[in-house]
Amino acid sequence: MDIQERYFRVFICLILLQLVCAIKAIRSEKPIGKYVAMINGAIILPIVGNMIIIKARTQGVSYLGYYLSYIGMNTIMVTVINFTNLYCKGVDEEKKHSKPYPIYALAAINMVQLCLGPVFHHVISLESITFKDRVFYRDVPKIGLTFHRITDYFLFLCILLIYIVAVVKTTRLYRGKYYVILITLVASGIFQFISIKTREPIDRSILIHGIFGVVIFYLSIIYRPVGLLDTLLSNVISDMNDAVYVFDNTDRIVWTNERALELLGLKEYKSNEVRKTLFENFENITGRGENWKENRVVGKNYYILEKKSVKTDTDKLNGSFLVIKDDTERHNAIEKEVYDSRHDSLTGIYNMQYLYTRINELINSSDREYILIYFNVKNFKLINDNFGKEFGDVVLIDLAKWLRTNVKNGLFGRLVADTFGVCIPRDEFDERYYLAQFKNFVVIYKNLEQRINIHMGIYVIKNKSFDVSIMFDRAHLAITDIEENYKTVIRYYDEKIKQGLLEEQKLAGDFNDALMNNQIVPYLQPIADRKGKIVGAEALARWIHPEMGFLPPYKFIPLFEKNGVITDLDTHIWESVCKILVEWKKTNPDKFISINISPKDFYFTDVLAVIVNLVRKYDIEPEKVRIEITETAMMNDPEERNNILSKLRAIGFIVEMDDFGSGYSSLNMLKDMPVDLLKLDMKFLSSDNNDKSGIIIKNIINLANELDIITLTEGVETKEQFEFLVSQGCELFQGYYFAKPMPVEEFNEYLLKHDA
Ligand code: C2E
Ligand code: CA
Ligand code: CA
Repeated sequence: MDIQERYFRVFICLILLQLVCAIKAIRSEKPIGKYVAMINGAIILPIVGNMIIIKARTQGVSYLGYYLSYIGMNTIMVTVINFTNLYCKGVDEEKKHSKPYPIYALAAINMVQLCLGPVFHHVISLESITFKDRVFYRDVPKIGLTFHRITDYFLFLCILLIYIVAVVKTTRLYRGKYYVILITLVASGIFQFISIKTREPIDRSILIHGIFGVVIFYLSIIYRPVGLLDTLLSNVISDMNDAVYVFDNTDRIVWTNERALELLGLKEYKSNEVRKTLFENFENITGRGENWKENRVVGKNYYILEKKSVKTDTDKLNGSFLVIKDDTERHNAIEKEVYDSRHDSLTGIYNMQYLYTRINELINSSDREYILIYFNVKNFKLINDNFGKEFGDVVLIDLAKWLRTNVKNGLFGRLVADTFGVCIPRDEFDERYYLAQFKNFVVIYKNLEQRINIHMGIYVIKNKSFDVSIMFDRAHLAITDIEENYKTVIRYYDEKIKQGLLEEQKLAGDFNDALMNNQIVPYLQPIADRKGKIVGAEALARWIHPEMGFLPPYKFIPLFEKNGVITDLDTHIWESVCKILVEWKKTNPDKFISINISPKDFYFTDVLAVIVNLVRKYDIEPEKVRIEITETAMMNDPEERNNILSKLRAIGFIVEMDDFGSGYSSLNMLKDMPVDLLKLDMKFLSSDNNDKSGIIIKNIINLANELDIITLTEGVETKEQFEFLVSQGCELFQGYYFAKPMPVEEFNEYLLKHDA
């Protein structure tokens, strides 16, 4: 086989090699793969060109071979530049690499002038020579080829320069991959140069180009620097937040990271010292099987320890490593989260949900009898409104404090808002102690000192299978029963309360019928002047129930205030009063009737409009209707309420402040409230000490006189009381001493008798 034939075959092999490399490079799916494949593809061009030159028998075919070679070389340069651009800077899809546009332009010009060669014949001419007994067409360079060579060498030098810089700049680890390319490049350049100089018909430098293609492929697709992984891994471990201890196959410590030393409080790595300190802090680490993981608590810290062994392919122990993760922060965060989810943020005691859970566990794990106490701060809303939310918070915090110190063998927590729950064994509940403590529960904050009323509803747990929330609901119901009675502060849930509830439900259901059938009627209680002469009456609602009989207001008024129908009831009573006054125009033209306004009426209706419309409808003089309003009704939105009262007075109604002294800040309100009359209730004044009551009554009457306000005392039951009040200057009187509330007809007869 002659030499040309041999080269021809070698070239075919080179082409196949380039194709394999190109395909593998693309399949590798590495970002640089397609650039490598382009180089491999470009290298095929001059190889094919040279194969054509070897085989060519005519000038035309030879031209084709030569042009293909030149164009191929130019293409190789461009693809190598593209590749180098990425190879040396790294591939980053996000980052746009600056492209060497001047170089592309130069290559493009060269390409164009080469392609125009066959037209202008400025690149080469051919001369025929005989080589090894065969005729070849050898290229004779013209200006175009010279330009091509200068361009190619210029590009070549640029590429060389980039690799030289890369070799200098990169780390030792990566230097190899640039070196190899650099050497292959230089070799290619030299061979190319020799081939141009010797002008041999077979371009041997093509072989080097082929090898260059394979080298590029290998370095960028296959090769991984020796030691890269080791170096990187040890860096990763050194930087890790967890402590890592590496043991050899005899359980000797051979390496640790910085964190591992830090954890043991060591400054530098000394195998024996590390071992000693490690084993002092964490016991039982070696000699206990190959792989294990466990949590440990050391002092205040939480750690996760994990030991893993590393084996050879033949399952022999190479060594092992221990990773200690400091889990304290996470652990504490979780603990805090759990704590927060179970505790009330203001008082720090259990919240409702968790209290329920704990109570459930407690009562079901013991045979003792337990009680639930439902604590409620009375008038908490008023406390907040009057003294500020901050003071309200202090009240709650103080209560929680009290529970902390006083509830020993039980559980306690905050239910919602101003309510607290307690669960204790029944035999440990000292009712007298609780009563004594809460009789005088004073909260002091800044310069405020306020007595706080606490109500307690108690549920004795008989059936432990009940839901804790239902038990507390019952304890709560017991409290609602307290509200009407000022003296009691503790109330047990019992059958009566349950009965009461059922009764309430029945009454609520019967209400509409009752109104329609006139079952709810005003009773009248006479009001007398200083001489005992009856000057008017107060209208007090009574329900003559077809099944339940005579019902006094405390049976239904609080219920209707709760469910909101009180306004319908009041409007009905007011209208009934108007009808009575219409009758009285003939019989008792001078007498007035007072009506009661519930605080809730202001929420549900336009009190002013309703009353004004009624007196217009029945054509009644406003001063015949007296309006009783309690100070509680004035607490919410006093400005607006005062405004309403002023308007009522302007129209001619007489406005009375009912139950004076029962509320929070009666005296305080008095100075702002536009009222004509103060209604004192004996029941708020009569106490064990009659002398004190007397002094208080006397002073209130004096005060009212000075403010030009008339005083009326209700609840007058005895002659002595009447006479005392007269002596103190009180002007009007109401009470059993004169008469109890009575039906209208009876009242009319009473008047006849009385006036007679
Ligand atoms: P109040 O407005 O303070 O009415 C006075 C209460 O004292 C009446 O009770 C009356 O019967 C009672 N009383 C009168 N003289 C004496 C006495 O000498 N000794 C004693 N111990 N009690 C006396 P009553 O009728 O049971 O009414 C209770 C409360 O129900 C009333 O208190 C009032 O707040 C409310 N109420 C009554 N009727 C109505 C009404 O039509 N509408 C509204 N919203 N509330 C009403
Ligand atoms: Ca009243
Ligand atoms: Ca009253």
